[in-house]
Amino acid sequence: MQLVFATNNPNKIKEVQELIPKHIKLLSLEDIGCFEEIPETQNSIKGNAIQKAEFIKIHYGYDCFADDTGLEVDALNGEPGIYSARYAGEQRNAEDNMNALLYALKDSADRKAHFKTVIALEINNQHHVFTGICEGEITTNKQGENGFGYDPIFKPNGYQKTFAEMDLKLKNTIGHRGKAVSQLIEFLNS
Ligand code: IMP
Repeated sequence: MQLVFATNNPNKIKEVQELIPKHIKLLSLEDIGCFEEIPETQNSIKGNAIQKAEFIKIHYGYDCFADDTGLEVDALNGEPGIYSARYAGEQRNAEDNMNALLYALKDSADRKAHFKTVIALEINNQHHVFTGICEGEITTNKQGENGFGYDPIFKPNGYQKTFAEMDLKLKNTIGHRGKAVSQLIEFLNS
């Protein structure tokens, strides 16, 4: 089976490739000749995931899935949420985003946050949605070198280290994307 993963983020492809059964060949956007920016203009994580998957199905004709992820911080009423990639500006820089978030929380004792991933699947002219959530807290400084995005400042509940201090296997087991991908795989295998 061939399935397009509608993302330009090589870190995400690496994470999902680790999890997906070997009989499913994952194609990237590059593999299908898609080099344009996919619109992400909805006001929810779920809406954006569906929009991206539908865009590929409509314009390129492939069965596909797309994920959208946001970091939702309790003390900031769920921000950055859908603005996670550009929280500190259109340069979409992970260091800038983390600095902005640490600054926004500098006087906050409440550090609770969660990552939410929604995967939208377009297959055989049907739509399916899978959601994975990982609860945790925002640290007061950056720790670790692995992963990407906000990983150095996110410590999942029950662990004394950030995502950036974990190996990919552990992050995938307990993480938001891994949980959503597990549901996707269960569905594809059923
Ligand atoms: P996207 O729209 O799904 O690409 O995610 C939006 C932003 O959330 C990304 O630019 C990253 O900054 C952040 N993000 C997404 N997934 C993760 C993750 O697994 N760890 C840390 N940050 C992430």
